[in-house]
Amino acid sequence: MRATNLTKKLAEAGIRDHAVLQALASTPRELFLDGALAHKAYENTALPIGQGQTLSQPYIVARMTELLLQTQPKKVLEIGTGSGYQAAVLAQLVPELCTIERIKSLQIQARQRLKRLDLHNVSFKYGDGWKGWSNRGPFDGIMVTAAAVTIPQALLEQLADNGVLIIPVGDDTQQLLKVTRRGNDFESHVIEAVKFVPLINGELA
Ligand code: SAH
Repeated sequence: MRATNLTKKLAEAGIRDHAVLQALASTPRELFLDGALAHKAYENTALPIGQGQTLSQPYIVARMTELLLQTQPKKVLEIGTGSGYQAAVLAQLVPELCTIERIKSLQIQARQRLKRLDLHNVSFKYGDGWKGWSNRGPFDGIMVTAAAVTIPQALLEQLADNGVLIIPVGDDTQQLLKVTRRGNDFESHVIEAVKFVPLINGELA
């Protein structure tokens, strides 16, 4: 019932892709939150997931997923696994997902949650997303769920031809960008203003 309300709100906010709406509706968001916050799971707001990190607002998860899916990617890389919610949504929509997280405890929890949801097409890497995952690339789509000051060069290099990179760029003010690779050229479009936690350099124990 509450998930249905959320789907309605997302459709009203302009999300058009039915597969995306369906994937969000069938992903139990409360599973990705601390028990004390579970009652807020179907509100269209960002929520804390520990370690100073946040689970994005469902609207932005839906919007980024919709943008990424426009070119029907087969192999996708996500930077910033976090709670695993965005990964769970993507795993229902693409054949193969790779995801990188720099905080080990978050990665462990995310892995357990996806297993519980019977999503087995996801590979997890503990490491620095600035570097991408070169031996698993090239990727048809890359989604970064933390804001980068500049676009990481490694991610552009690991993008397949006609592949799409969805990334929030900036510091205090951030813009969501859609970058498409055309040979050795990159076309960039500004989508909308966003607010993400920063994409940090380096690993963490
Ligand atoms: N996609 C997540 C959103 C998590 S918030 C979800 O659905 O819950 C952003 C995440 O990016 C945080 O977990 C943070 O630890 C991670 N992150 C920040 N910098 C990173 C980096 N350089 N490499 C990998 N992960 C990073």
